[in-house]
Amino acid sequence: MRFNTSLLHEGVRKNEKHGATLTPIYQNSAFYHDSANELARIFDGKARGFSYTRLGNPTVEAFEERITKLEGGVASIACASGMAALTNAFLNILRAGDEIVSSASLYGGSIDLFRDFEAFGITTRYVPNNDWEAMEAAINEKTRVIFAETIGNPRLDVTDIERLAALAHSHGLPLIVDNTVATAFLVQPIRLGADIVVNSSSKYINGSSNSISGVLTDAGKFKWDVEKYPGMKEYAKIGPFAYTAKLRNGLFRNTGACLAPQNAYLNQLGLETLGLRMQRQCENAAALAEWIQENYEDITVNYPGLSDSPWHELAKKQFSGYFGAILTIRVGSKERAFAVLDALKLPYQLSNIGDVRTLVIHPASTISLHNTKEQQEESGVFEDLIRISVGIEDIEDLKEDFAEAFPKNPITG
Ligand SMILES: *Cc1c(COP(=O)(O)O)cnc(C)c1O
Repeated sequence: MRFNTSLLHEGVRKNEKHGATLTPIYQNSAFYHDSANELARIFDGKARGFSYTRLGNPTVEAFEERITKLEGGVASIACASGMAALTNAFLNILRAGDEIVSSASLYGGSIDLFRDFEAFGITTRYVPNNDWEAMEAAINEKTRVIFAETIGNPRLDVTDIERLAALAHSHGLPLIVDNTVATAFLVQPIRLGADIVVNSSSKYINGSSNSISGVLTDAGKFKWDVEKYPGMKEYAKIGPFAYTAKLRNGLFRNTGACLAPQNAYLNQLGLETLGLRMQRQCENAAALAEWIQENYEDITVNYPGLSDSPWHELAKKQFSGYFGAILTIRVGSKERAFAVLDALKLPYQLSNIGDVRTLVIHPASTISLHNTKEQQEESGVFEDLIRISVGIEDIEDLKEDFAEAFPKNPITG
């Protein structure tokens, strides 16, 4: 099945009551059972069924099954937010004394999270993305996981996932990839060797900015060495489901990271049009990036779809023929950036990406505010930078609006 067909037909439950095409919202905290024995077996993981929504819920499970198909893994766990999914993805396998080796080009919230991990004895070594020598040098006997974003937010650099996965595996380490910005429409990181994929489904999967949520998917391929990952001891024998089984029986339920059923439903709804939206948004982003580059000499455009992007060739090789729906522009100064942002009429100024509406933001003073100057620059954030998450509007309307908002070009008027 091809992408759009698969979104509607794979992993979808065909046996819902009354012929419902979408799993209904089970807005229930708990589920009763007629015998004490049955409830006991469910609690013990010996029987399938639901007991308490913090541990599992039919609507949430339906969403997870579709995400598993979307990313081509064996199991998924949906969480209250992308950050909850990342927290769970890492802490499921890490303990005090362990190290993460990560691409430096990260979402600001992930950098904040790794700083919080330090209080628990987990440190992160940052290396420039795709710098293989630096990556090798950063890996040592304490390293337990490698991390990168498919497309860095907001640097928009493209990670060579195949090469990174091969490097991680040559050291016996799993690779976690944050696929939020690219989405499975561009690439399934698992096909390129990633072990665990995390999506903030608040973004493109949801598509309308109506629910915060996150989901992690396990490829089920990594062979957990129980000496190196002692927490996996009891689970390694389950094979492909070891990682998610450990999480579901442990940290996920104990941190209360569960997704609300209503949000799982809204995400299922969004998921069905992911392909249509992404196609249109990627086309719009490419058109806008090219138009700005051609018409405004004093504005620098960063978009992996542009042939002069340092990541263009890799993106062409690795992605499905699309280059994502986010571009960044540098307009010369913070004042100019603020003036452009305030002059735009169609885009919303808000800290989100992946909405059907075009969204704009000044990352340096918002989403990357808590990062150091150095961390900001490594993640592609500068004082004069604007991030544009392109929506599904008619491209001519977007161009007209940006033309009004940009300072007049001194050469072309
Ligand atoms: C938004 C985002 C997150 C965090 O997701 P939330 O749902 O806001 O918690 C993580 N990674 C990336 C790349 C993001 O864009």
